[in-house]
Amino acid sequence: SAPLVSVRDLKVHFPIHAGLLRRRVGAVKAVDGIGFDIRPGETLGLVGESGCGKSTAGRAVLRLLDVTEGSIRVEGTEIARMPQGELRRLRPRMQMVFQDPQASLDPRMTVEAIIREPLDEHTRLTRAEKRERVAELMDAVVLNRGFATRFPHAFSGGQRQRIGIARALALNPRFVVCDEPIAALDVSIQAQVVNLLEDLQERLGLTYLFISHDLSMVRHIATRVAVMYLGRIVEMQAREGLFAEPLHPYTRALLSAVNEPDPVAARTRRRIVLKGDVPSPANPPRGCNFCTRCPDAMPVCREVDPATLEVGPGRWVACHLHDPAVMRGQPTRPFGA
Ligand code: SF4
Ligand code: MG
Repeated sequence: SAPLVSVRDLKVHFPIHAGLLRRRVGAVKAVDGIGFDIRPGETLGLVGESGCGKSTAGRAVLRLLDVTEGSIRVEGTEIARMPQGELRRLRPRMQMVFQDPQASLDPRMTVEAIIREPLDEHTRLTRAEKRERVAELMDAVVLNRGFATRFPHAFSGGQRQRIGIARALALNPRFVVCDEPIAALDVSIQAQVVNLLEDLQERLGLTYLFISHDLSMVRHIATRVAVMYLGRIVEMQAREGLFAEPLHPYTRALLSAVNEPDPVAARTRRRIVLKGDVPSPANPPRGCNFCTRCPDAMPVCREVDPATLEVGPGRWVACHLHDPAVMRGQPTRPFGA
């Protein structure tokens, strides 16, 4: 089927200004040329360490912030440069669930008012219809209808996230960006909220971009996974392939730190500890973005930015090790040796 969301060469650069005259001296390349498709009903997991640009990417895809370059198509409509007034009409179709339900809910509004707000803004439902819709939404996220008149502080973190989800679903979106929706919650309730999101996806036919730094969570919920490092997607493939046979050295390092449920695989897997820190997105290294930390780096890596190649059906990677044209010219050991 045609993708519901299609992103190409997306860049979000934040200018850096300095000096008395606030002259522009550079840019933080938070997102630096990423692309992916998300098919209807699918969950694309977007993973990477904090600061890799994944939240910025998620917000940019919904046009909650301005994009510097690139294309974003949602249900066939190009929105990358669409003016906010026009975007307003599309807003109901695409929504966001935020990381911190505490910060994203207005403490002075009742639960009912919070969930109703998008209905007030975007629909002409009557008061009674809105009240009914809010009650339905509270049912959908398994919140007691009797809580409608309470304020957010009266709730636990998990309940607040349910309120945030109800609000995101108020207008029947088709596409929802979930930005670390459980990272701020107690471990004991994380699974409940993830199960709820999965349940809602199935019942309502939702399509998710699920942003997380937690690979074991992504393994649970995503159908495909994109791995981000320093503003780029370095690898993207179906979940099974990514966990069984990661292609990029960075993915392999990330995976080596995750608990392996399969005891046979666990015995053979070595922990890969990356040296150094993530470079600044204001000053990424020359050549491959990962070359300063990559255990497999070759001389060419410090010179040439690797192309993103499809090395098997739906298996994408940006690393010279997987580019036969580059590797033919390399005097170094073959991959894995
Ligand atoms: Fe490592 Fe080179 Fe591949 Fe970059 S291109 S990930 S530095 S091997
Ligand atoms: Mg983030």
